Amino acid sequence: MTTTKTLIALEDRLGAHNYRPLDVALARGEGVYVYDVDGTRYLDCLSAYSAVNQGHCHPKILQALVEQAGKLTLTSRAFHNDQLGLFYEEIAALTGSHKVLPMNTGAEAVESAIKAVRKWGYEVKGIPDDQAEIIVCANNFHGRTIGIVGFSTDPDARGGFGPFAPGFRVIPFGDAEALEQAITPNTAGFLVEPIQGEAGVLIPPPGYFARVRELCTAHNVVLILDEIQTGLGRTGKLLAEEHEGIEADVTLLGKALSGGFYPVSAVLSNSEVLGVLQPGQHGSTFGGNPLACAVARMALKVLVEEDMIGNAERLGTYFLDQLTSIRSNHIKAVRGRGLMLAIDLHPEAGGARDFCYRLRDRGVLAKDTHTDTIRIAPPLVITKAQIDDAMGAFEAVLGDHP
Ligand code: PLP
Repeated sequence: MTTTKTLIALEDRLGAHNYRPLDVALARGEGVYVYDVDGTRYLDCLSAYSAVNQGHCHPKILQALVEQAGKLTLTSRAFHNDQLGLFYEEIAALTGSHKVLPMNTGAEAVESAIKAVRKWGYEVKGIPDDQAEIIVCANNFHGRTIGIVGFSTDPDARGGFGPFAPGFRVIPFGDAEALEQAITPNTAGFLVEPIQGEAGVLIPPPGYFARVRELCTAHNVVLILDEIQTGLGRTGKLLAEEHEGIEADVTLLGKALSGGFYPVSAVLSNSEVLGVLQPGQHGSTFGGNPLACAVARMALKVLVEEDMIGNAERLGTYFLDQLTSIRSNHIKAVRGRGLMLAIDLHPEAGGARDFCYRLRDRGVLAKDTHTDTIRIAPPLVITKAQIDDAMGAFEAVLGDHP
């Protein structure tokens, strides 16, 4: 059997060092649990950055994948297939969208939306050629392509990768007045995460998005919500926008759209924005392939049928209450919405990574973010008993022990 040490050494020697994973080599997953190569079980409190909301290897999604893989996997969009139209119908009905553009990764969905919104800006809003602007927020995370890192404010994400595309303006997150001031006649869109996930689960002040919606409507600016991480039940609603009582003009989904089996993403919009794309102007060999569509259809179906969204709402509240009740000199703040949670540690605590290792040693996998934050995002199928179990580890690692 290949050992953890050997596998990590291989990754270290042969792989680009663009990640710094915790030292654990996983070999199997089922529901909320993952197992390492030695068979040790861990409760997964990251869910592959919210891509396995439905739990690891959900049996119905697995069945859909296997069945479709034995029939037809890829046709390219040169021909129609018997899954794409049904995927459109089901996702449009679920989210109340008029048009769907299927892609693969989250970053591709973001890039695709930027293209469509710029084109909408020229053809519908009447912005002069090559003058379209998209407003984005500081501390955003929308992916890793050259286009996207060009408007990141994270020095690690963008440093050394220039030159970058023009046409983006950065404003502070959660500040509607800054948006109002940044909008010009050339503003085509405002791209924003409902909750900034990679930045450390930052929740904007109440009323922010209501005002953002008003401003975008008043100035004919397309509101693009990146729900790649917050969407599909993570925050206790199908889409995080529902907490704010608003509707985006363009919604981006990815990650859990496939339950973690396969990269599937989508741009959802009203007819006007995606309607500007004509044959030859955008595409992807794998986007909208029958395997992806069959998997995504089942990933959406189980999310709704098995009440994972309701579970995220109920147990998210419970988990947050439990975490808040830990008596700890290390903890500065605890926050979350649904099962998208985070603990901020005091800088003197010695860093979140060390605590993630201690949690690992007690059978819980969580992720450190920005030195002092621990992110907690278990699959939405988690039970109260499993949270209680995890709390044993959080208490032991973070709690005060006189
Ligand atoms: N947008 C958000 C909000 C994300 O959290 C992520 C990934 O973490 C992305 C976009 C990029 O998705 P992908 O890694 O599939 O390209």
